[in-house]
Amino acid sequence: MTIIRSSTRNPGRAERIDGDILLVEDQRSLAEMTARMLHQRWGCHVLIATSLQQVQTILAQQRHRFFVAVSDLNLPDAHHGEVIDVLLAANLRVIAMTAMFDDEMHDQILKKGVIDYVLKNSINAYEYIVELVGRLQRNMQTKVLVVDDSETFCSIMAAMLRVQGLQVLTAHDGVAALTLLDQQRDIKLVLLDYAMPNLDGFSLLSQLRRKQGKDTLAVIGMAASGNLTAQFLKLGANDFISKPFNYEELVCRVSQNLEMQESLEAVRYVAYHDYLTGLLNRRAFFEQGGKLFKEKLETGQAMVAAMMDIDFFKKINDRYGHDGGDVVLKHFATLLGAHFGSELVARIGGEEFAILFTDAEQALERCERFCALVSDAQVTIGKQTIALTVSIGLATKPHTNLDEMLKLADAALYLAKEQGRNRVVVSDAVA
Ligand code: GH3
Ligand code: MG
Ligand code: MG
Repeated sequence: MTIIRSSTRNPGRAERIDGDILLVEDQRSLAEMTARMLHQRWGCHVLIATSLQQVQTILAQQRHRFFVAVSDLNLPDAHHGEVIDVLLAANLRVIAMTAMFDDEMHDQILKKGVIDYVLKNSINAYEYIVELVGRLQRNMQTKVLVVDDSETFCSIMAAMLRVQGLQVLTAHDGVAALTLLDQQRDIKLVLLDYAMPNLDGFSLLSQLRRKQGKDTLAVIGMAASGNLTAQFLKLGANDFISKPFNYEELVCRVSQNLEMQESLEAVRYVAYHDYLTGLLNRRAFFEQGGKLFKEKLETGQAMVAAMMDIDFFKKINDRYGHDGGDVVLKHFATLLGAHFGSELVARIGGEEFAILFTDAEQALERCERFCALVSDAQVTIGKQTIALTVSIGLATKPHTNLDEMLKLADAALYLAKEQGRNRVVVSDAVA
């Protein structure tokens, strides 16, 4: 079972890029506008070069700074796209821009290994470039699998996809593909050929879909005959591409499918996380906790559930306002995450949190230590520093279902409040 751990980060969206951007553009105003857009979106530094000579000087001194280069083709001291060769020779990823669309130049430039070739004819083109940089960043953390019995085809595909920054794996038949997908659960997209020995594309797709839906693994079917499109889609492919295809068509389809996966991932993140603290929410706790509970029950493992509630939280709200209360909740969630990060931790109500321990050993000691840690730590709200305590109820006797176990933990929590708060009570002690 996969447990989605708490995180304050939405996984579907890149927020920053790993380095600076080299922007090569000889028209000053255009360069400044593009640099501003890139900086505003990605927070990175954008260094502008206006000639080939400047590019060469910059690369000689600070090549390692750059995540990507966005470059015009024609410069005052290099009229025929020579700058692209210089940037690629320095092993930089390159997005090429041009003011004029020329079929021959277009093919030539793409063959060199640039990420994309963008016609700078409107503001949309610059917005496209800004988003493309983000796509590239996300691609660096994205695994795709190409399944085709032809080794040559696989290596051409892999080379094309690697230009896009993707991590590419290849398999030459369906059986090898299934093994790889089992081993590497973070593969996001599969490009799947129809005609293969052992297990053809359709059979492989059917097997895949029994394990993973369209929302967590995208599949693009590939075949020389367009007649297979409908069959691929009916069997659960997200998309189809007819062989032969060119680099740009492949990239567009791959990017679109990855974007769709990321949007779904973002929606899933919102559905399963608490917006304020980034912890798992009530729904996630009961869905994932229910599964974990069943697994533990079947294998006879020890189980411990905890319910905790911040003491006198209403007073904090009354004194420091709702915003002040929110600061305390975030602080508390950070402590919880740091202390119980490997367990299933969730915010299940206003100032109530629950834990289902995957590792039941020492749960009581850990809760006691946490109680002490909370009362020792101080929270800063504006200029004020306040102290905080928490009461915890623990259920250690296995029950038939998670709800019942949490009721026991809740009863123990009630007792902890009655006994004076800032303490841990175990359900066995509850009459
Ligand atoms: P006890 O020690 O008995 O738990 O007392 P308490 O004041 O902590 O408990 P009570 O249940 O009376 O108050 C909880 C308060 O938490 C009431 C509610 O307005 C507040 N609350 C719930 N959700 C949020 C939130 O998201 N942000 C803030 N700031 N307050 C919240
Ligand atoms: Mg409370
Ligand atoms: Mg409460």
